[in-house]
Amino acid sequence: MEPYVTEAIDFALTNGLIKYNPQFKLTHAPFCLSPHAIQPRMLEFLVASTPVFNELMIKVGSDRELLEETLGPVARTDRFIGSLLDIYRKTEISHHLQISRNDFLLSINGSQAGEPKQVEFNTISNSFLYLTQKMYQLHKYMENHMCCRGTLSENNTLNDSVAMMAEIVRYYDVEDACVLMVVQHAEQNLFDQRGIEYKLRQEYGIVTIRKTLEEIAESASIRDGHLWIDGRVMALTYFRAGYTPADYAAEKAWEGRVVIENSSTVKCPSVGMQLAGAKKVQQVLARPRMLERYLSESQASDLSRTFAGMYDLDESVEGQLAGELAIRNPDRYVLKPQREGGGNNLYDQEMVKAIQSMSMDEQKAYVLMERIMTPQEQSVLVVDHVSEEASTVSEIGRYGVCFFDGQSIKINKDSGYLVRTKAADQNEGGVCAGYACLNSLCVEAP
Ligand code: ADP
Ligand code: MG
Repeated sequence: MEPYVTEAIDFALTNGLIKYNPQFKLTHAPFCLSPHAIQPRMLEFLVASTPVFNELMIKVGSDRELLEETLGPVARTDRFIGSLLDIYRKTEISHHLQISRNDFLLSINGSQAGEPKQVEFNTISNSFLYLTQKMYQLHKYMENHMCCRGTLSENNTLNDSVAMMAEIVRYYDVEDACVLMVVQHAEQNLFDQRGIEYKLRQEYGIVTIRKTLEEIAESASIRDGHLWIDGRVMALTYFRAGYTPADYAAEKAWEGRVVIENSSTVKCPSVGMQLAGAKKVQQVLARPRMLERYLSESQASDLSRTFAGMYDLDESVEGQLAGELAIRNPDRYVLKPQREGGGNNLYDQEMVKAIQSMSMDEQKAYVLMERIMTPQEQSVLVVDHVSEEASTVSEIGRYGVCFFDGQSIKINKDSGYLVRTKAADQNEGGVCAGYACLNSLCVEAP
């Protein structure tokens, strides 16, 4: 192996760019040693669009009519969405924090070649706040040893999000109040979460309590509106679980979710925001004139440029036509259920079989999305101590922090990025799911 690769692995292990592998052995997070080049105007556009997308999503999360209309039909066959919708119906819209991530692929489809197209807007459990900042630090350290087609774009995602979390705890204004981190039982990406916890403690003196939804059901109570756990008030509840049905395998987990939603703890995110991030909602927002309900004409026009084609599969003429098109051209579409966390989408013949075998009601819980074709580049990938050069594509996520105090948006800004680079022949994009490598952005000369 080349010495600079060994040096990069040492940097990763020394500085916490680490994760557990599926066998729960410690390893470095998979990373790329070829920063992804982006044109300055493209980067500026993405950064500027973060607060606008955040504002849109906050408004959508409070729009009961839209969520009911859009997700009601999905809930008929998707029990998970149905259960979240039930909780949403019973809770008030109050203060909540959004740590969002808006994912894009640069498209080489059709007339708008080279433009960013939105893959999805994530509202819950956005990971890599810690690891992506470490990735940038590794690249900064290795800058002179790598092939970099521009200037590295600074990335302080962890600093910005943790500062925001600390600000929320101050706003909540209860002495010694803590952060509750809702977690899964076994977490391969543990250190990404620990990085947040340690920074909150070391820089802001704030304690974080880690619990699963089931443990919360057993230990939480509401007193004077506050969420109490182990004799402490939880100012902020930060979800790193709760986004997948597996987190609610035991019915008791739902009790944990309900107690959180019924208390005055600041949720990150609230159940409404989680629902706003559903892929079906993304599809509905891409319909003509939808964005204008929430944004100015010029904001709506800017954001809509990033939408790829998304279609219903249902009994309508358009729905039938979309299904037929996908069956005839499977390589041009991807079929998505209302799930998060990677590995759930259907491609190629699997997609065709699913469309042909589902009932009309089942189809309503899916979104058919145009496949975004992305330019390929040669990159050095380092996975589990082995490096290889591969033809790759990259997905860019912009993080945003946004605080809604129950009346209006108080803070709203872009807070850094995630780049995931994967082999060009790989459909899915998750880092911990084993598909992609962490990367950084470098800005090309204008
Ligand atoms: P999840 O909620 O599981 O992350 P995504 O919608 O982000 O679902 O899809 C997972 C991955 O699949 C993405 O990271 C991306 O690599 C790929 N993908 C999703 N949608 C498209 C699309 N329209 N075109 C090309 N690739 C896509
Ligand atoms: Mg995704």
